[in-house]
Amino acid sequence: MRTLFSFWVFSLVAGLFLQACTSPIKPVPTPTSSVVFVLSTAARVPTQIPTATPHSTATPTLIASPTMLATATETITVTPTPGPIWGTPASLMLHRKNDQFDTVQFLREFIGLLQKSGARVLTYRTLAGQPVVGTSRPFIISIDDIYLRYPIDPSVLEMIGLLREAGYPAVLGVVTEGDYPYPETVATLMALQDLGWEIASHSDLHHNLASMEKVAPKSIFPEIRTSLDKLESALGRRPITLILPEGQMTRGVMQLTRTGVLWVVGISGGNQYDTRQAFRYVGREGPDGDARTTFEIMLKRFGPK
Ligand SMILES: [Zn+2]
Repeated sequence: MRTLFSFWVFSLVAGLFLQACTSPIKPVPTPTSSVVFVLSTAARVPTQIPTATPHSTATPTLIASPTMLATATETITVTPTPGPIWGTPASLMLHRKNDQFDTVQFLREFIGLLQKSGARVLTYRTLAGQPVVGTSRPFIISIDDIYLRYPIDPSVLEMIGLLREAGYPAVLGVVTEGDYPYPETVATLMALQDLGWEIASHSDLHHNLASMEKVAPKSIFPEIRTSLDKLESALGRRPITLILPEGQMTRGVMQLTRTGVLWVVGISGGNQYDTRQAFRYVGREGPDGDARTTFEIMLKRFGPK
């Protein structure tokens, strides 16, 4: 009986180890020891990070069996342990067209470059369980400042049309102020969500969170929670991504941790993220000159190191 019990325990441990070792996630080939986060002072991610439970994709629900034991013995020696640091996909930040900049034309050209390069276009939500590996060229495209209470700007609708035509999903940053969601905006967002687009919170009032916390440090959590609640109630799905108003990171890490978002999206820094942290800060690049120049800047910034 005792021998049988020992065998069972060994099988269970070996099975769990196998689970960890055969996880489909593969690390970015950068050694973790050489990872350096370079952030501007304004967008610095505090180093003493969250005590909250880190998000994990592991599902250690196993029933040990002799077959597993046999496989585990073969696999343990050949499969490397995945590292916790991942490269951020090249991430583009867009806003509606204005007098100074024709975002629609920019995006049209940018899509052409994506198509030529064979890029993969993802969302933060799809990236959650699928970190970026090797030399593939993953991109994330986000469009900010869509207001739940107003009709979507015609230039943004045009951009959505271009992306749909190309078969690329995007991330839409939605501000939720007010009590009345505009029905057509809700319908459009729901339809896109069903097509695999991601709807992210862009906060409730679009206030700069770093300025807010100087006045009232505890106001960040309710500001974001309100926005998540409104989006969940309007669209039936709770966002997992917060796009920071004005790209401004806050030092109120615990306030953001409490919101339960997985992705916190700013502008500066965040070229890599640490999967052990309660949320992942990632940066983006806005249009910088024409589409080709921006594309090249993005590849340099986010490309494999
Ligand atoms: Zn904004």
